[in-house]
Amino acid sequence: MVVYNLICKKKHQFEGWFPSFEDFQKQAEKKLISCPTCGSKRVEKMPHACAVHVKKEQSAPPKKTEQPAATPPTPAEFKEMLLQVHHYIKQNFEDVGSRFADEARQIHQGKTEERPIHGTATPKETAELAEEGVPFVTLPKPELDS
Ligand SMILES: [Zn+2]
Repeated sequence: MVVYNLICKKKHQFEGWFPSFEDFQKQAEKKLISCPTCGSKRVEKMPHACAVHVKKEQSAPPKKTEQPAATPPTPAEFKEMLLQVHHYIKQNFEDVGSRFADEARQIHQGKTEERPIHGTATPKETAELAEEGVPFVTLPKPELDS
């Protein structure tokens, strides 16, 4: 049994229980999951967040030199980049799931081992982390809406 934090297109958050990830995927594909608040079938898993805690003495000062303006990536290139980032994170980051906000905060405060982590966070949690100055990034899902 797996539990996912889900969010509908109107940003209602709720928990979904599924026998397995595959069952979640199947139900999501067939639009069998609906929001208990508004009944929307446009439901996704919560956005993923990841954090790499960089020691202060290692962080390079921001460069002032002007870089030539890069051409923005095409949607296809952007999706490819995202897939690569997600793959890299899966390989190299510890999955802390819904404990992400707590773990990121403890790493930031030096209360637990410093390591790259990824997991899920609610918009409220990411707002709190940002307020506390905890470094993290949220990643858009590579599966773009079709
Ligand atoms: Zn809803």
